[in-house]
Amino acid sequence: MDIAKKMKAAVLFGYNDLRVVEKEVPTPEPGEVLIKVKACAICGTDPHIISQGWPSNPPFGEYIPGHEFTGEIVRVGETVDEFKVGDRVAVEPHKGCGRCVNCIRGLYTICLNYGNIAKGHRHYGFSTNGGYAEYAVNHINTLHRIPEKLSYENATLITTAGTVMYGIERIGGIRPGETVVVTGPGPIGLMGVQIVKALGAGRVILTGTRESRLKVGREVGADETINIRQDDPVKKINELTHELGADVVVECSGNPRASAQAIDLIKKGGRIALVGIYQEPVSLNLNKVVQWNLSLAGGKAEGMWNLERAVPLMADGRIKAGPLITHIFPLDKINEAMETFVKRIGGAIKVVIKP
Ligand SMILES: [Zn+2]
Ligand SMILES: [Zn+2]
Repeated sequence: MDIAKKMKAAVLFGYNDLRVVEKEVPTPEPGEVLIKVKACAICGTDPHIISQGWPSNPPFGEYIPGHEFTGEIVRVGETVDEFKVGDRVAVEPHKGCGRCVNCIRGLYTICLNYGNIAKGHRHYGFSTNGGYAEYAVNHINTLHRIPEKLSYENATLITTAGTVMYGIERIGGIRPGETVVVTGPGPIGLMGVQIVKALGAGRVILTGTRESRLKVGREVGADETINIRQDDPVKKINELTHELGADVVVECSGNPRASAQAIDLIKKGGRIALVGIYQEPVSLNLNKVVQWNLSLAGGKAEGMWNLERAVPLMADGRIKAGPLITHIFPLDKINEAMETFVKRIGGAIKVVIKP
């Protein structure tokens, strides 16, 4: 296959200074492949990275962000026989070092050698270059083959799906028939509704503040939605559960108040998966956690090969990305795409870049 030597890429030159420039096409090392990027979704962390950076990101002028991407393999590095040229893949951002005790236990999203390139750790789009480019290099540990019927655009949301799945795995999963509250109808929450349904939840209640997003929630499977600007979620969920509370809360809002309130939405023995990203400390009624046998767990990113298991769920439509993807922009318009995403222009939920 003929591969260009130069490519277009969005490079961060300073805080809030993302420019599309020409760069060398990277070469895959042993164990890596070169991917022709077909689509890359904007994640909530991207605007944060662009405005404030990320610990151990590559230097300004070299750093290509973007971590929720899909594409076609166009070259394989030495020793790679797991994948071949022409394979369609979605990537996950984390590759553990493979040598620390957490990686050995499969907990590669909490690798103890985070950001240590020499020891083999990669966090694509964060500590190493990512997918806002025509080409990207990834290690095979981060690749998930996607079938023809799953579009490159839709498959970019596989990281979103995997993140919720990992959070749920961390609280021991969902039992068939359980009542699950999902807080926050952002991309993670709207994925969360679909995943808990696919895992067998009996009833899914979605809470949020924007009616337009709650409507999307109902379209993708929420049985009940609560607009917390109009109704008190504790009162409403007590009503819906005969004063018992839900079995599980999947906290996706990242809002300190919503996360503190999560322990008032569940019954004794309930479980809370924390999937939101919190910008400030949260005060919790920990005595209730003790007295009520509650379980809380955080889940760092996609973890434990959940993306691979999200593929068939997305491919056959049990999890739909389509209703969440509101905008698609070419790479040249990446700054306009970021603004659309941040300001939620035109009801933006998930915005996808196509190099
Ligand atoms: Zn992300
Ligand atoms: Zn490690």
